[in-house]
Order: sequence, then C-alpha cells, then structure tokens
Amino acid sequence: MKAIQITATGGPEVLQYRDLDVPTPARGQVLIEVRAAGINFIDIYFREGRYPSDLPFIPGQEGAGVVVAIGDDVTAFYVGARVAWCGVQGAYAQYAVVPESRVIRMPDSISFEQAAAAMLQGMTAHYLANSAYPLQEGSAALIHAGAGGVGLLLTQVAKMMGAYVITTASTREKAHLSREAGADHVVLYADTDFAEQAKSLTKGVGVDVVYDGVGKTTFEGSLKALKPRGMLVLFGGASGAVPTFDLARLSTMGSLYVTRPTLAHYTATRAELEWRANDVLHWVEARKLMLRADHVYPLADAAKAQSDLQGRRTTGKLLLIP
Ligand code: NDP
Repeated sequence: MKAIQITATGGPEVLQYRDLDVPTPARGQVLIEVRAAGINFIDIYFREGRYPSDLPFIPGQEGAGVVVAIGDDVTAFYVGARVAWCGVQGAYAQYAVVPESRVIRMPDSISFEQAAAAMLQGMTAHYLANSAYPLQEGSAALIHAGAGGVGLLLTQVAKMMGAYVITTASTREKAHLSREAGADHVVLYADTDFAEQAKSLTKGVGVDVVYDGVGKTTFEGSLKALKPRGMLVLFGGASGAVPTFDLARLSTMGSLYVTRPTLAHYTATRAELEWRANDVLHWVEARKLMLRADHVYPLADAAKAQSDLQGRRTTGKLLLIP
C-alpha cells in the first residue's frame, strides 16, 4: 500500500511517501481501507518529536473508510461497514488497523470526507464546550484562531449553546470566515490587543472562559482577558509551548483557573466516545454543524499540507485522500 512514513523526526521533509505492507488486524482490531484522512496540528507535534512516538511510524490520527477485514473477537463491525475513527495513529495510508473500541459507524448520508473532517476537531469542540468549561446561555467565551479547524467548529458549538463568542484571527479573510461561523465579534490579534478588546466588549468585566489552542503567543493575554474566577482552557500550542508559569500569579490575577485538557481523556470510555462522536456526526447530518474542508491534498502531498497548516495558510479542515 502507499503510505506516509516517518523514520526520523524533523521538518515536513521527514514525511516520506512509501510502499509498505498492508497491516494485518490483530485480535480486537479492524482493517480499514482509508478513503479520507484528517490532518491535525497534533500530527506536526508528532512529526517534530514534541510528542514522542516509536520510530518508524505512519502519522495521522483520524480517518474514515470501509472495513475490509476483521481480527479475532471483533463483534461490533463487519466487512463493508462505513466507519470513522480518531486518536489512533496511522491514518496517512491506504489501509489502517484500528481497535474496534475506537471505531464509530458513520451515518449513511454523510461522506467519508465529512466524517474525516468532523471526528477529531468536532469532538474537541464538543468536549471543550460541554465538559472542559461547560458553556451556558449567556456565557462569554473568547476562542483563539477562530478560522482554524477547531476554531470554526467550536464557535458553532458555542453559539448552539447560547454563548456570546469573541474570536481572534490573523487576517481579514479569516475574520470573515469566523463571522460566518457565528462569532459575535472577531479581533484581528496581529494589530489589536485582544485582551483589552475582550474586556471592553464585556463592559470591563472580562470573559468567563478563553479557549486557547495558540499557546505561547496568546497565553498572557488570555489570562488578562478573563473575569475574576474565569477559566483558561489551554488546549494546544500552535505558536509553541507555554513557558513555565508561577501558579501564585493565578491568585493575583483574579483567582483564575487554568486547565490543559486533551481529547483522549474526554473520550476515554466507549460511552463518552459514542456520545461525542454521534452528537457531532448527527449535527453534520442535520446541517447544524457546517464543515469547511477547502484544503484537500493527495496522500503524496502530506508534507505540503502540513507546511500549509503550520504556515497559517489554511482555514478549517485539511484532508488527505489516499
Ligand atoms: P488550526 O487549523 O487552528 O491551525 C492553527 C491556527 O493557529 C493557525 O491557522 C493560526 O490562525 C493560529 N496560529 C497562531 N499563531 C500561530 C503560529 N505561530 N503558527 C501556526 N499557527 C498559528 O489547527 P487545528 O484546528 O488542527 O488545531 C488548533 C489547536 O488545537 C492546536 O494547538 C492543536 O494542537 C489543538 N488541539 C488540541 C486538542 C486537545 O484535545 N487538546 C485536540 C485538537 C486540537 P491565525 O492565522 O488566525 O492566527
């Protein structure tokens, strides 16, 4: 099969397009013919070695396709089932093996591209808004990178839940997309102090929650944008990792909370995985959650795709088609 393989961590050039053997599903695993794979920022952390992985490996944490073989003791899936998954490495390939415990049946009416675009970032939006900091009607939320993959989905979910949503974006075009997704106000954070703007838009009070996946360059401003006892949900570091932080500052800045969540802990049980995945896929089916997957690449162009994501040249979802 064709696949992208990493034998040494580094820049986009370590994503090698290779011929590899089709894997065999072990006990409890299914073999999926991948029709669309999602690209996520986490793939860059693994490629660079910021997140460790044994070498060599096939990157990619999410995909959708058809079950073509099952291992022993698989009970919930059959050959021919249309399925999607996330959180298991190996999606940048024509075939991937995934434990059946992480696989979700797709509704018939949605495409493989839609499912691959929705799983990881959609469930992230779901747990951020429902569980990491549960939004309520009238909550004020600041969402960074509002035109990004997670940003566009989280904005829509936050609006469904009745929140007042401020987002940030680096360009006017991105700001336009973020507004289309429902943002009440978009701050162009390259030229404007987003913390001051968030304060002034909330009559000097500050927001209840900041969802920050940008990290290094936004962390300090995110703390300043919060109201007393507000929560910073630091869910990623697209601009780099946040440096060491003195916890005593949380008290002087207003008895603030900071959490650093990750999707795996919010989909740890089968019940929680199904709750989030089924909500997200049904919202897509019902057109309550609109996906933007304007950046679609052949598998061989994985390096270009990751460079575009890292270089801030993309909006919404990036997909690879094996
Ligand atoms: P995005 O599509 O949001 O791309 C990242 C965006 O971050 C860019 O488009 C850019 O938007 C903004 N950005 C700001 N500064 C930089 C910089 N220096 N370099 C690159 N981008 C920058 O990516 P994803 O939706 O895939 O992921 C967003 C974040 O969410 C990532 O940090 C990711 O790790 C995290 N994540 C965390 C999860 C979790 O469970 N913890 C799960 C899924 C994602 P702009 O140009 O508008 O500034």
